[in-house]
Amino acid sequence: MALAEDVRAGGQAATVKQPDKLRALGIVALNGMFGERDAPGVFKQAAELLAGDLAVVSSFGADSIVLLHMVAELDRDLPVIFLNTQKHFDETLAYVETVERELGLTRVISLAPDPADLERFDPNEVLWETDPDSCCHIRKTVPLQAALEGFGGWVTGRRRYQTSDRGVLPHFELTGDDRIKINPLAYWTYEDIDAYKTAHKLPEHPLVGKGYRSIGCATCTSAVGQGEDPRAGRWRGLNKAECGIHFDFNAEIASPIRHAEWTLFKSGRFVADPWRQWEEGDDPATVRFTHVPLAVWLDSRDAFEANPHPIGLMVEPAEGDRVETVGDDLSHFNSVAVGFPAFTDGRGYSAARLIRERYGYRGELRAVGDILADQAAFYRRCGFDALVVRDEAARRLLEADAVAEVSVYLQPVGAGREVPVGTRPFLRRPVR
Ligand code: SF4
Repeated sequence: MALAEDVRAGGQAATVKQPDKLRALGIVALNGMFGERDAPGVFKQAAELLAGDLAVVSSFGADSIVLLHMVAELDRDLPVIFLNTQKHFDETLAYVETVERELGLTRVISLAPDPADLERFDPNEVLWETDPDSCCHIRKTVPLQAALEGFGGWVTGRRRYQTSDRGVLPHFELTGDDRIKINPLAYWTYEDIDAYKTAHKLPEHPLVGKGYRSIGCATCTSAVGQGEDPRAGRWRGLNKAECGIHFDFNAEIASPIRHAEWTLFKSGRFVADPWRQWEEGDDPATVRFTHVPLAVWLDSRDAFEANPHPIGLMVEPAEGDRVETVGDDLSHFNSVAVGFPAFTDGRGYSAARLIRERYGYRGELRAVGDILADQAAFYRRCGFDALVVRDEAARRLLEADAVAEVSVYLQPVGAGREVPVGTRPFLRRPVR
C-alpha cells in the first residue's frame, strides 16, 4: 500500500477547489442528468467536473469492491482514501492489500488518527465503548477533514437501501463545508451489487462469508442475521448509525468532543471524561462507565458483580457514606469518586486516605464537587489522581499550571512516607 502517513499529503497534491463552477451547474441539475442505476455515468461526470480535485473514500468493507472496481476502470490514479482507525479487523487490512494489488490502484492513502488525539482522548482505548461518536470523530472525521482540505469533492459508496436514514440519498450532494459529495451507487440494490461482483469476478471481503454485510471497526461490527438491515451489525445496541463522516448530509459537521465541556483534570491537563453519574432507572446488570452511589452498590452488589463492564463507585461522606462498608469491594471499581459538597468539608480527604492507605485501592480516585485549584496539593497528598473541576477560575489556574505547592505539612500522610519538615516542634519529645 502506498502509505500516506501525513494525512495532508493527498490534499497537497491536489488542485484548488472549484465550488463556484459546480454551484453554477447546480446540484439539482446534476441530479437530474443520470438514470438511477447509471453509477459509471455519475462517476465519470464527477471525475470530469472535478478533474484533479476528486478523491474516493472507501472503507474497504463488504461491498466496497464495486466502487473501487469503477475507480480502476475510470482512472487507477484517482486518490482512494482509507480511514485506518487502528480498530479494523486484520481481515480488512489484508483486504486493502489484496484489492489494491488486484485492481492496480496506485494511490491508496491510509489515514491514521493523530497520535496526540489518541493519547489525549482515548489513552485506554475504550472510547469506542464510552463515547463512540467521539471515537469516530478522532479516528475518522478529523483525519478525513484534514485530508479533504485539498479536494473539491469526494466519492462515497453509500446506497439508499442500507439504512432508512439513507433512503433519500441523491447522486450529488453539496456538503456543509462547500464540497461536492458524490454517491454513484445511491440507487443500487443489494442485488445490483451482488450481480456486479459476480459479473466482474471481484474478490470478496473475507468476512462476508461469515455473515458480515457491512464492515467497519472490529470493536463496533457484528454479523447480521437473516432479514436484518445490512448495517444492523454496526454499533449494535447503540443509538448510532453513521460514523460521523457522513453527518453533514444536512450540512452539519459532527464534532462531538467539545473542549470547553471537559471537566476532568488528570495527569496535568483536562481530558475527555468517559464516566457518567448513576441515574434513576439504570440497570445494575448493564450500566457501564457509571459511578454508582455506595448505597445502590450495596443494594444490588450481586447484579453489579455480574456486569462485565467497567463500573465506578460514588462515595458521599457528607451524606453518611462509610468507606468501611465497601472496603473489600474496592477492587471491582475502575474509578472511585469522592464528593466534596463544600471546600470547607474535609471528610472527603479522610475517605480518600482510607481508600488508598487502608484498602490499597490503586484505580482512579477522583474528587468531585466544590473543587478549588488552591487545594490541588491537598487532594493529591490524600491520594486523588483526578479532579472534576467546574469552577472557571480553578480551571484557568490548573490549565496554567499556576497551582501553589505546599511543602510544609502539619499532618503527614501516606503511612509514614511523608516527613514533616520541622513543624510543630512542641510535639517533639525525647525518646526514652
Ligand atoms: S467505528 Fe467504533 S472503533 Fe471505529 S472509530 Fe467509530 S466508535 Fe471508534
